Amino acid sequence: MAELVGPRLYSCCNCRTHVALHDDVISKSFQGKNGRAFLFSHTMNIMVGRKEDRQLMTGLHTVADIYCLDCREVLGWKYERAYEETQKYKEGKFILEKSKIVKENW
Ligand SMILES: [Zn+2]
Repeated sequence: MAELVGPRLYSCCNCRTHVALHDDVISKSFQGKNGRAFLFSHTMNIMVGRKEDRQLMTGLHTVADIYCLDCREVLGWKYERAYEETQKYKEGKFILEKSKIVKENW
């Protein structure tokens, strides 16, 4: 059995469902709705909501809110599409609000 030796995880602040791995953090210097937010390449146990165009500080993006699969808490959003060439790297990536996630196994 392949065993993960204490991977550092982030969990939903509400129900402690695991939502992301520390190894998947791309950047910690993003701005969320309520303060700092992290950009992740992957997340788990989340639901993606309806897509909508949103004007962010870095330009127009198509984003979708992401929810905890278990308790339906809104944890952040997913970048579906970026219109600015310099922001394209965010497409398909996930923002999790720092205030909505807690560290596990650190
Ligand atoms: Zn939850």
